Amino acid sequence: MARVVTWWTLAMLSACARPARQAPSSTTPASTTPARKAVFIILDGIPADVIERVATPALDDIARRGGYARAHVGGALGGPTQTPTISAPGYMSLLTGTWANKHNVWNNSKQSPNYAYWNLFRIVEAADASRVTAIFSTWLDNRTVLVGEGRPGAGDFRIDHAVDGLELDTIAFPHDKASQHIRAIDDHVTNRAAEFIAQRGPDLTWVYLQHTDDVGHAQGTDGEAYATAVREADARVGRIWAAVQQRASQGEAWMIVVTTDHGRDPVSGKGHGGQTERERTTWIVTNQGPLTERFTRGEATVVDLAPSILQHLGITPPAAVAREFEGVSLLRRR
Ligand SMILES: [Zn+2]
Repeated sequence: MARVVTWWTLAMLSACARPARQAPSSTTPASTTPARKAVFIILDGIPADVIERVATPALDDIARRGGYARAHVGGALGGPTQTPTISAPGYMSLLTGTWANKHNVWNNSKQSPNYAYWNLFRIVEAADASRVTAIFSTWLDNRTVLVGEGRPGAGDFRIDHAVDGLELDTIAFPHDKASQHIRAIDDHVTNRAAEFIAQRGPDLTWVYLQHTDDVGHAQGTDGEAYATAVREADARVGRIWAAVQQRASQGEAWMIVVTTDHGRDPVSGKGHGGQTERERTTWIVTNQGPLTERFTRGEATVVDLAPSILQHLGITPPAAVAREFEGVSLLRRR
């Protein structure tokens, strides 16, 4: 992540370069509102200091349109919202805009989510079931347990398109200790996501990529292996970003958000789950702006993302759902 030109800088540059916007003529069609779409990508377990050190041209390109900033997971340190810096609790915080004391996902196994706190997919499907939703992920539980697809207690809705569970296919992706099968699955789900976005332009898409976490656990964050995994993750983001730009060039309004679910321990970088500053410090990249001072000051948290995505989509959740959000939108209202 190179030093980033913010949305504000870009806006100033373009304000200089472009002629003043003209008032719409009487022949302007009434229905010029572009379709609003969002895709969020989680790159597993990349500390902010690493994403800022390693060259990530795709993330830089996205950030030039909107912004890059450090952010946090883990809830309020020492308070009732404190949440383990572990993957599944982090995804659930992003999905529901709440911390673990509400969503009740505390670890990666034996999960019993509290579906009273609606997730993004349920909110979008409840607002308009004709909206197209999609998940591309290594981890089947992301859809079947965390999102709770098809579960009566979770709203009994369907994700329209899913490419996941490939970690269970040991024929196509034979498991190996170096986690090359997860690397291959990340490439597979990335390519399927890019294709689907280009062809169908789904309204809400979640892409989850795991390999960086596996390399971190095995090798820590200091060596070339981890930097290589981060560069490869950035290249995957680039393939999805290209598909998003293709759709946007056809007149759709796309928000892309890329983030990580937790940092890593400050000693070796192999572990995570605790509440050290490095484990709690994450980052967010988006093409959307203008962004709030909460974002630009590095004060955003993972629970701000659901309200941000819903604002972009123009969807107002039920009042009883919105009331429980622990975060606020990072997008300034224009
Ligand atoms: Zn993780």
